[in-house]
Amino acid sequence: MKKQIAFLFFMLPAISWGQNYIKPEQLDKTRFENQDFYEVKDYTQKTSKKQIVKNVIFLIGDGMGTSQVYAGLLSNKGESYLKSMPVSGYSKTNSSDDLITDSAAGATAFSIGEKTYNGAIGVDKNEVPKKTILEMAEEKGLGTGLIATCAITHATPASFIAHQQNRGMQEEIAADFLKTDIDLFIGGGRKYFNQRTDGRDLLIELEAKGYNVITSMDSLKFAKKGNIAALIEEEHPQPAALGRDDMLQNASEFAIKKLKKNKNGFFLMIEGSQIDWGGHDNNVPYIVTEMLDFDRTLGEVLKFAASDGETLVVVTADHETGGFSVNGGSLETGVVEGKFTTGGHTGVMVPVFAYGPQAELFSGVMENTDIFYKFKEVLGW
Ligand SMILES: [Zn+2]
Repeated sequence: MKKQIAFLFFMLPAISWGQNYIKPEQLDKTRFENQDFYEVKDYTQKTSKKQIVKNVIFLIGDGMGTSQVYAGLLSNKGESYLKSMPVSGYSKTNSSDDLITDSAAGATAFSIGEKTYNGAIGVDKNEVPKKTILEMAEEKGLGTGLIATCAITHATPASFIAHQQNRGMQEEIAADFLKTDIDLFIGGGRKYFNQRTDGRDLLIELEAKGYNVITSMDSLKFAKKGNIAALIEEEHPQPAALGRDDMLQNASEFAIKKLKKNKNGFFLMIEGSQIDWGGHDNNVPYIVTEMLDFDRTLGEVLKFAASDGETLVVVTADHETGGFSVNGGSLETGVVEGKFTTGGHTGVMVPVFAYGPQAELFSGVMENTDIFYKFKEVLGW
C-alpha cells in the first residue's frame, strides 16, 4: 500500500471530516490504477482422504459482489488468492423482511442460520436471541476469534457474539462481549467500551476477566498469555490506503498463531469491512484497495490452511454494495474502471469460495443461512 502516494494525497482532505464513507472530491472515483502488485503463491492443498475439519476460518467481504472480486483480480493483473480457491458457489442474500439485506441481517443469517429482519443482531425475526455459531464453538471448547476493519461492535462482527434488537445499540453490543469467553477480538470501537452513557468501563471489566486489553496494533506483540481484546481505534480503523496498512493481515496472522494452540480447533471470523464503504461511496479506488487488502489477508490464511490440512476456509459476502460493474480496465496495467447503479446495497447473489477439507459442500447456489448449517455439518455438531 505504500506506493499509492497519489491516491493518498487525494484522499487526505477527506479524513478530517470524520466520515465513515470517504468523499474525496478531487479524486476520480471511477478509475483506479494499481501500482502495488503482489505475487499470488501456490497454496494448493495436498488432498487428504480423512477430510477432517478441525478449524473453520470464515472471511466476509462486506459488500463484496462478483464485480468487486473481479476488480481486485483485474487490478493485480489477473491474479488473486480468491481466484485460486478450488470451490465456488453463490449465496442468496435476502433478509426476512426485505429483498435487499443489511449487514446485520446478512451476518445473523450466517451466525444463527435464520433469515431475520434488517438491523437484527443475533436475534431471529421475532427478536428472540439465538445461539450463534461462535457461541457454539465456545461451548464445545474451540478457540474463538473475531477480526474486523471497522468497530468490533459494528453489524457484521456483532452478529456473531451479541444479541440485540438493533444494530445501533453499540454500547449494549459491547457489553455482550463480556457475557462470552471469546478468546480474541481485534478491531475498532473502543469508545463503546470506555466512554459509555452508563458509566461502566468495560476495558477494566475485560482486564478483570483476564483479557489483555490492547489499544494499538504495535502493542499486540507485547500481549501476555490469555485472551486478547484489541480495540485499536476509538471508532473505525482507517481505510487500507490511508494508514491502516497491513492491520488485517497482521491481525489475522496473530489470531491464527494464537488460536491454533487450542487442541479442539478454532472458529475465526475475519471481516474486510470497508469494501462496503467503497461501494456506498461509489468509489472504485476505495473498493479496489480494500479488495487487495482482503485478498492478501486471504493469502495469509491459505498459507496456514495449506500447511495445517484440517482447516476449512470459506469466503463470502453478506450482500453486494453499489450495484458495481467493471466497465473497462486492463489486465496488463492493472487499471480498473467502474460504474454504479446505487449508493446502497443490491439484492444480487454473492460469490462463495471454499478451500480445504469438505470444501465441495459450498458449491452451487445456496441460501446465506445454509452456510451456518454447513459449518455445523463439517464440524460434526
Ligand atoms: Zn453497507
